[in-house]
Amino acid sequence: MDYQEILDTIALELTTKQPRGNVATYIPELAKVSPQKFGMHLHCINSGHYCFGNSDEKFSIQSISKVFGLTLAMSLIHEDLFERVDVEPSGNPFNSLIQLEYENGIPRNPFINAGALVISDILISTLKSPKQEFLQFVQNITDNDTLKINVEVFESEKKCSYRNAALLHLMKSFGNITNDIEEVLDFYIYQCAIEMSCKELATAFMVYANRGAKLSSHEEVISPHKVKRINAIMQTCGFYDEAGEFSFRVGLPGKSGVGGGIAAIHPNQYAVTVWSPLLNPKGNSELGMYALERLTTLTGLSIF
Ligand code: GLU
Repeated sequence: MDYQEILDTIALELTTKQPRGNVATYIPELAKVSPQKFGMHLHCINSGHYCFGNSDEKFSIQSISKVFGLTLAMSLIHEDLFERVDVEPSGNPFNSLIQLEYENGIPRNPFINAGALVISDILISTLKSPKQEFLQFVQNITDNDTLKINVEVFESEKKCSYRNAALLHLMKSFGNITNDIEEVLDFYIYQCAIEMSCKELATAFMVYANRGAKLSSHEEVISPHKVKRINAIMQTCGFYDEAGEFSFRVGLPGKSGVGGGIAAIHPNQYAVTVWSPLLNPKGNSELGMYALERLTTLTGLSIF
């Protein structure tokens, strides 16, 4: 398979597409990012790297960090963490409060905000230095110990996290948050504020394409039977209220973020990432989704 030729075809097609969608503005710092940016990087299981555009430029990974939080929690905790967070698609926006009220404070899945806040609560109870250990975890799977958070994005979100604070208060009233609300919120926002390039994210996501092991060192980050479950949750819950549409059009497990990034994998084949900050009404990168749809169409391969 000539992946570079396929990516070059997609790059050419993108030049004819009319940019649509909006940059996320509810976190003021994200509104400053240029809507013209576009990067794509494919990391193949045979170690090949293929890319185009702004694929080496860092962006805010936002909700893509929820995959790393879940992975760290599942690698550390052996009792059933899925009693506190379910694994069903929500059919609601990522920051919705409604479902939580009538489902007794148990979030639908770990990839909506409420679910990731519960995972953050679990990690705070488990780790000695949650922020440092979380960052080290992401640095390790990326083979890059210079990764860090964007402090401006972190502070910007901290000033306007009313809905996430509301989710925490509601869940605490149901007994599903054990730590201090401010501490959980702070740790959650920290994870979202990590900055990575498409290349770095594709390297990190190889773990999910490679049965839970790093491609570079073969270190097992998480067992194959746990990574199978994480990939299943990415497939069914990784794209806000549009996981069905993403499965239909692209056909790969993955996760998106409001920074405009999408990371996806084809098990035993590749990890692929795209970044384009213009979001569709459901919060997924408009052109990113298009590029991934073209990738699975032009390669003739998806998980289906
Ligand atoms: N930090 C963002 C929030 O909690 C993440 C949202 C996202 O990327 O889906 O609202």
